[in-house]
Amino acid sequence: MTDKETRTNPVSFPGMITKAAQLENQEINEAELRAINKHTLSPLTADDVFTFKAVLCDNEIDRQSERFTVKALEDLKKLFIGKTVIKDHSWSANDQVARIYATELVMSEKTNKSGEPCAQLVAYCYMVKTASNADLIAEIKGGIKKEGSVGFRASSVICSICGTDNAKSYCRHFPGKSYEKEGGPQQCVFTLASVSDAYEFSLVAVPAQKSAGVRKSYTGETVEAPATEPENTSNVAEKHEDKDTQTRVRLMETHAKNNINTMKNYQED
Ligand SMILES: [Zn+2]
Repeated sequence: MTDKETRTNPVSFPGMITKAAQLENQEINEAELRAINKHTLSPLTADDVFTFKAVLCDNEIDRQSERFTVKALEDLKKLFIGKTVIKDHSWSANDQVARIYATELVMSEKTNKSGEPCAQLVAYCYMVKTASNADLIAEIKGGIKKEGSVGFRASSVICSICGTDNAKSYCRHFPGKSYEKEGGPQQCVFTLASVSDAYEFSLVAVPAQKSAGVRKSYTGETVEAPATEPENTSNVAEKHEDKDTQTRVRLMETHAKNNINTMKNYQED
């Protein structure tokens, strides 16, 4: 698509959603090698390749107060097969370091906060061992490079407060903010119900993600949340809630790197 050709450093562009991903080491076997060789011009041997897997996303409510449906994860599962893995969001050919040769939706017996079975989208990636990527392979093996970022476009984004599909037109609500509803204040969550395009899976030092309740960008147009709520919906408790939420987001970002083992344990259960 032309967007990819004209944008050289798409850390974020209007309409693109980014999410943090976690990398793990993986052993290669014959079945993996057969799957990899479907993507190569000449067959590779186990000695030629290094593979790793990555949890791209799951169906838990995340730090942006967004959640995927299983349907959206299934869309991504199809869209990410064969996609190149890049470095630092760079779409330059030199920074294409790996390729996704298989994807899998891993369902768990555990349930998420919404009471649905936990689902994780896992991508299996291979790299051809070369002198130029020896450092990167060592970093992934050593657990130094263990974070990534996925970029995609959602075709249906449903607001939990009013039901508007924000992929088509924006409502006045922002995910992560609290709004007065019948029965008390309610935290707004946006459900990513379907996905139309997968742009990138990038290895990054620090995953770039927007903060909850700050802005939204689903249609191609980006809108900022108003600094203060209109008179009739604003109250002291809500302002405190916002401050608490932002503090929590910051804390969670600080601790995100330490959570990779938790993700891994969950995966192995
Ligand atoms: Zn809404």
